Amino acid sequence: MDSRDRYICQHAFEDDAGHHGAVTPPVYQTSIFTFPDLETFSRSQMKEREHYIYSRGLNPGVHLVERKLAALERGEACKAFASGMGAVAATLFSLLRQGDHVLRINQTYGPGVELLDQLEHYGVKHDGISGTDDIEASLQPSTRIIYVESPSSLSMELADLDAIARIAKARNILTMIDNTWATPLFQKPLQHGFDLVIHSLSKYIGGHSDVVGGAVIGSAEMIDRLFAIGHQLLGAALAPQNAALVLRGLRTLPLRMSEHHRNGLRVARFLADQACVEEVFHPSLAQGQPAEWVAKQLSGHAGLLSFRINQPTYSRIASFIDALQLFRIGVSWGGYESLVVSPMRPNGSGQPLIRLAVGLEDIDDILADLDRGLNALNH
Ligand SMILES: *Cc1c(COP(=O)(O)O)cnc(C)c1O
Repeated sequence: MDSRDRYICQHAFEDDAGHHGAVTPPVYQTSIFTFPDLETFSRSQMKEREHYIYSRGLNPGVHLVERKLAALERGEACKAFASGMGAVAATLFSLLRQGDHVLRINQTYGPGVELLDQLEHYGVKHDGISGTDDIEASLQPSTRIIYVESPSSLSMELADLDAIARIAKARNILTMIDNTWATPLFQKPLQHGFDLVIHSLSKYIGGHSDVVGGAVIGSAEMIDRLFAIGHQLLGAALAPQNAALVLRGLRTLPLRMSEHHRNGLRVARFLADQACVEEVFHPSLAQGQPAEWVAKQLSGHAGLLSFRINQPTYSRIASFIDALQLFRIGVSWGGYESLVVSPMRPNGSGQPLIRLAVGLEDIDDILADLDRGLNALNH
């Protein structure tokens, strides 16, 4: 972890918000900002992305979060959104035209794929490959965007970010990556040549399972375009109260990620050693070429991982999950609490995986709980 990042999370860009010395900046719960004269108003409106005019556009607390996220990703600018999906939707809406093609790499976030399915009604096509497939062979003359998730958030697939950025640049294709798993602390895709980084702030960055938000980081030019089109016109603005919760999460993000890293590695190794576990999906266990990508792209590991038990029927998966006491059953991840979920359905559809969001509890309690689940499989 870069030592600058802790400073950015905690102190950067805050001195100008010094209200009576308040350590926590006030929440500007206002929809409108007023002006002393028409000249000031008009000049502000000409650059609305950076001025406080109306809170669907920008608000001081939102602005603070945006500056911190841009700095953490080493990007020029950031736009925050009401959710991660708000960020994905605004990006696709701002950049795509009828006739364009989107190439997805790895299992990108499900609702993002469903959104691309909807865009087929407007003449946009998409298809998907894995990070280990031949990327050049999968491009079309109309490919406008390469949309990557690495590591992906169900089976933790990886992709070679440098190679993808190089291939895309040579053909004027835009690259966007969902960096939610790694957070800006463990992976900085702009430094590998990517154009846009997307985050769901609802996961590790918010960090307390009490807020939904999203963000896109990139060049000032790209973010200006996303602001004018996808943000202003679709209207998924991050609310001031929610920005304050995201800011609170950022303060401790480096500490929490260090602990998620430690607990995640312990759980991955523990599961890999079990006879009834067939395969564990966590980048710390990657082998072959993906292991080289981990070494050059990731400076740490998150606590989200998945695994496949032997004879992975729905009823065996249910026996494991229902025996757990510490891990609660629920979607999403990134808070202090350990969660478990499976995409498999009673009719046998869906991937037969168990996904764990390893939380910040004591590692011995976490391992003892997983032992309970494994014992249930042997009875
Ligand atoms: C949760 C998630 C999203 C969507 O974010 P929301 O804030 O829930 O809209 C996008 N990508 C990944 C990898 C996610 O986990």
